[in-house]
Amino acid sequence: MSAHPAAMDVLVIGAGVVGLTTAQALHADGHRVTVLEAAASPATGTSKANGGFLSPAYSVPFATPELPRQAWQSLFDSQSPMRFRPDGTLGQWQWLWALWKRCSPAAATDARNRFVRLGCYSQACLKELVAATGVEFEYRQTGVLQLIRQSAQQARAEKQAEAFTAQGFPTRWLRRDEVMAMEPGLTRSSVPLAGALHVVSEASGDCARFCHELLAWLQKQGVDFEPAQSVNGLWLDSTGQKVLGVQTVTGQRWSAEAVVVANGVAAPEVLKGHLRVPIQPVKGYSLTAQVSDEANAPRHALLDETSRLAVARFDQRIRLAGTAELVGVDLRIDPQRVTQLKSAYEALYPQTLQAPTLGWCGLRPTTPDGPPIVSATTIDGLWLNVGHGGYGWTLSCGSARLLADQISGQTPAVPAVDYALQR
Ligand SMILES: Cc1cc2nc3c(=O)[nH]c(=O)nc-3n(C[C@H](O)[C@H](O)[C@H](O)COP(=O)(O)OP(=O)(O)OC[C@H]3O[C@@H](n4cnc5c(N)ncnc54)[C@H](O)[C@@H]3O)c2cc1C
Repeated sequence: MSAHPAAMDVLVIGAGVVGLTTAQALHADGHRVTVLEAAASPATGTSKANGGFLSPAYSVPFATPELPRQAWQSLFDSQSPMRFRPDGTLGQWQWLWALWKRCSPAAATDARNRFVRLGCYSQACLKELVAATGVEFEYRQTGVLQLIRQSAQQARAEKQAEAFTAQGFPTRWLRRDEVMAMEPGLTRSSVPLAGALHVVSEASGDCARFCHELLAWLQKQGVDFEPAQSVNGLWLDSTGQKVLGVQTVTGQRWSAEAVVVANGVAAPEVLKGHLRVPIQPVKGYSLTAQVSDEANAPRHALLDETSRLAVARFDQRIRLAGTAELVGVDLRIDPQRVTQLKSAYEALYPQTLQAPTLGWCGLRPTTPDGPPIVSATTIDGLWLNVGHGGYGWTLSCGSARLLADQISGQTPAVPAVDYALQR
């Protein structure tokens, strides 16, 4: 712990992976930290059952040159992994307009570079956090296999391997027989397979388990966790320019010298009337099941481009994840989506899972340009660590350190301006 001369009382709103890693970084800097969480326990929001990938190489913005075409096609295809049903709110239309403006190749490359910088930094910060806390979360650094079905796609895949390698992610093209040697279960697959890219640097792990273990460790260190505290507004001084704390739905006030908003998709609600943060929910599904046939089950994290399925291997379990739906705040589970995930997996690895638990869905807190907002605000003492979209697990430890450095008056290792609210 590097005790900071100006240790402060800091409130962190939200006990997802972003809030908890922020609490850890602030505690490490010597601040007195209280985490306020609306639910009874940590990681009940989007951090509960995400895809498990810790993968800066595969962190890409939602806004790409292909997005308008994909969104249009999805309107006519109920099986499309993308679903686009705007909820008609003004906030969503403003966000969509900002997203649309970012769908150029140059904007996508810029966002991608900011993702990669923070994502790589985050993996180093995660390793430091693990060394300091000893948390366990079924971490595996066996790389990601990106399956390529058609040999016609090989040339493009090899180009992608070169690009990944040039960006600092050593990547190999594997022939079909090499893939089978690494993943014997795929010999029973019913889909064609030409080969795969193996991005060797990438990792995976159970985000919810990480959150639970990290919180237990933080509490032992004296960090205060306050469950069932649903924040419904900021408490500002009479000028409206300085934060004094927050208030909860029960009317209780919590005072602090600094407040970090880290409550994912619900951040705009807490900030309403004070600050506009461009975050919209992008819904996704996952499914988790125990392995029943170890010999034929996946051994690596995998991506199947065609079905847009992500597969992560935990100790005795498999996590399947996919789909991106712009449908507003809607946490209803569509059984068809769960079946789609399961069918895509069964086509690759038939009969290797026990009957799965119910599917899960979560809302990715997504900014129009992609990277998160890790930033000071115009209100003194109010800080943001929000908008991590589909990559909050990958980016959390780096974002937490980046924000803690700004709060503690230290020079961040990545340029704060790239993740500022105004950018
Ligand atoms: C299907 C799917 C797959 C994904 N796969 C991956 C992946 O493979 N790799 C990856 O890096 N990322 C992945 N993500 C993204 C990642 O899960 C998120 O970016 C991340 O969980 C966001 O964390 P968070 O802490 O910001 O939000 P959350 O986990 O939602 O945490 C916010 C917390 O704030 C609390 N809260 C909300 N409002 C209030 C309030 N008013 N007062 C107090 N508390 C409040 C909530 O209860 C919650 O606990 C995936 C997401 C989905 C949906």
